[in-house]
Order: sequence, then C-alpha cells, then structure tokens
Amino acid sequence: MDTGQCVHCGLCLPSCPTYVETGLEGESPRGRIFLLQRLHDDPSMLNAVTTEYLDDCLDCRACEAVCPAHVPTGHLVEEWRAETPRRGAEGDSPALGGFRGLSRPLSFFLGSPKGLLWLQRLARWSQWPVLGPWITRLRFVPQPARYLVRGIPQKIPKTLSRYRTLPSLEGSRTPVLLFVGCVMDTIYADTNHHTEDLLALAGTDVVLPLEQRCCGALHMHGGDPAVTKSWAKENIQAFETSGASVIVVNAAGCGTTLKEYAALFDLADPWHARAQRFEAAVVDATVFLSQCSLPTLADSSDVHITVHDPCHLAHAQGIRQEPRTLLKRAGYALQEMAESDLCCGSAGIYNLTHPDMAKKLLDRKISHIPKTVAWVAAANPGCLMQIQSRLCEDPKGPGAVHPLDLVWNAYRQAGLIHPNPDGLVSR
Ligand code: SF4
Ligand code: SF4
Repeated sequence: MDTGQCVHCGLCLPSCPTYVETGLEGESPRGRIFLLQRLHDDPSMLNAVTTEYLDDCLDCRACEAVCPAHVPTGHLVEEWRAETPRRGAEGDSPALGGFRGLSRPLSFFLGSPKGLLWLQRLARWSQWPVLGPWITRLRFVPQPARYLVRGIPQKIPKTLSRYRTLPSLEGSRTPVLLFVGCVMDTIYADTNHHTEDLLALAGTDVVLPLEQRCCGALHMHGGDPAVTKSWAKENIQAFETSGASVIVVNAAGCGTTLKEYAALFDLADPWHARAQRFEAAVVDATVFLSQCSLPTLADSSDVHITVHDPCHLAHAQGIRQEPRTLLKRAGYALQEMAESDLCCGSAGIYNLTHPDMAKKLLDRKISHIPKTVAWVAAANPGCLMQIQSRLCEDPKGPGAVHPLDLVWNAYRQAGLIHPNPDGLVSR
C-alpha cells in the first residue's frame, strides 16, 4: 500500500462528499491517507473511530480525479478493506459487518441466472399494489432497503436481457459485446434492450454471450475481491470466445470495475495479460454511441433534462460530455444542476450500510435538481434507484431515468426505432 505520494495539499477536500457534509479531517481523503499511514506503522491504532472514518469512504474517486499527486485514495481504502482481517468488536464496524452479512446473499442473487431471476422476481413483486407495501413492512427487511424499494421502476420485464434471442451476426462486421450486468440485466433490462436497439441503429452488430457474469463491483468495494476475481475470469473467457472486439457497457459502476480487472491479478499470472486485453476493449455505451453517426433530431423537444454524473462515470472514467452529447443530438434541452458530479449516496450498497450519510447526500442532490426539468438522467442503476426513491414522493415532479432510455425514446418517436415485437415494456 503506497500512501507516501500524498503531499497533504488538501486540494481534494472540497470534492469529497463525506468531508463536504461533515467538515471533519478524518472524513476527508487527506485524513484517510494519514490514517492508513498511521495504521500501517502501528496496527494497534485500529479502533472503532479510525475504522469508521475509513469505512465511511464512498469509494467515489472524486478525490482521485483532482489529486495533483495521483494518490489513489479510493483504491487504497478498498485495498485496506480487503487486507484487514475480520476484526473483533473493538475494530469492527457496522459498515463492513453489514457487507459481510450481505456478501453471501449477494453472491447468490448476482452470481447465477437463477439468482438473477429471483432478484428480478422480488423487484417486480415489490412493485405490486398490495404485495409491495406489505413486503416493505416486513420487519426483517432493513429500513434502508424498504426505502430503496421505492426507487425501483414500476414496470420490470419478466426475462433477463441476456436471454433475448441473439441478434443475427450476418454480415462481415465484427460485433460488439453488450455487457448486460446484474441489476441492469434484471431491474433495468429495458435499458439493455434500448442500448441494443441504439447500437443496431448505429449500424453495429451485437453479441450477448450467455456466459457473461456480474462484474463483481459490489464485492470489490465491500472488501471481498476473491469473488470479483473469479467472476472476472468468466467474463474474460466469455469475451475471448465471443468474437467481439469491443465491450460496450451502459452502467458506470460496471464499466469502472471491468476497466480495472488487470489489477486483480499478479503480473506473473497469465490472467493479467488476458485481463489487460479485456480492459482495453471496454467502452462506455454513451462514448461508443456518441462516436457513431446517430441521426441528429430537430430541437423540437420542450422536455428539459438535467444530468447527474455518476461517480464511476465522471471521476473514475472521466466521462461527462458524452451523455449530454447524445441527449442534445436526440433533441432534448439540457439544464445543468449544481454539484452534478457529487455522489448521490448510492455508492454500491453504501445506502444500505451507511443510511445516515447516504440520506444527507441524497437530500443535497435533490435540493440541486432544477424545478423545471422533466427527467434526471443518470447512467448508473444505483444512482437511478437512489434518486428515484426520493423523486417518487412527488408524482408531478421529475423522474430518474437512464440517458439511453431517453435517447431511445426520442428516436422511437421519430420513427427510427420500432417498438420491440416481443412486447417488452418501455417507459
Ligand atoms: S490526496 Fe492528493 S489532493 Fe489530497 S491532500 Fe493528498 S496529495 Fe493533496
Ligand atoms: S473516494 Fe470519495 S468518499 Fe472516499 S475519500 Fe475520496 S472523495 Fe472522499
């Protein structure tokens, strides 16, 4: 762990959500780096307070994006979480304890098609008019999870996007692999279908290998990289046998994890070079599509959109303009919000393990949404659920939606995309 790069300049402080909210040095990137250095020199310093400061990190990478010394604070905290053995009461924290409790069920739900179908079923049931409210009253369902259920889309397809009939690969063009993810594959399967339609509109053949798996981001952030590593190998193999040269991904969190697979393997491990080739092929869907010749629609829309920049898109991948480019090309009017790239509090399952801080950050995000917009566009499922869980309180107010759903809808209304013949739900 190399914490020595930090020159303590403090330039990262204003971009750190937990520092912005608390004003505490221990809740800042610089404070966390200092703590990691001290813990490295003297592990006996580990106690409930130091652990909490480190566990409170959202791994949002905002500090990394502005640090002149390129200190990888988010990575270092992640590394610390993975390396620190299970601790007793004195050093343990509710956050990591929470993740440990969730790691196994997450592996079941996200790790196999059977689990994903159950996840999709539960999400759909949670939106039924009678059953939904009953489920959210069940005592064993943690309060933050009950709250989050409100952010799930009301219409969820009944199939995983990966089980859709594979598109024809006729022709000589090399296909792109659409990475379908886990939450995107289930709760936001429509968005995957829309992405596929847009890729087709852009003249691209798409392949969706059945063998692809969840990217493993949640386990990585929670300090359980062994699961991520095992799923990474399956994704690398699926890519290598797919015949695709590019991997298109429409979820910011997945994209970042996929682009960091090589770091999971030692340099001497043959998987390292394979992971490097995999990483180099990963492209965010908004970047890929903005470089294609999608038609420009007349600016006839009076629908105003504001863009929330997911941390793992803006900070980790440096992608900010492309979602806006696509939305403008599709005829939407954009209205920027303040702090569009400050974390909304979702951060994987942070909103479940740290409900208080997550709520503060969500309050802050909601307060910045312009009153006149119809939609808040966010290219990450966690952000969508988190923001929608609050926006749903005002049925006349804006909703949260993936930018590619909006783009798809504009092209559909322009008659350039035709509704799916298999009756898939569209917004
Ligand atoms: S992490 Fe980077 S920006 Fe923050 S104090 Fe250290 S050197 Fe400065
Ligand atoms: S990763 Fe985010 S929450 Fe963690 S120290 Fe950096 S800016 Fe703060």
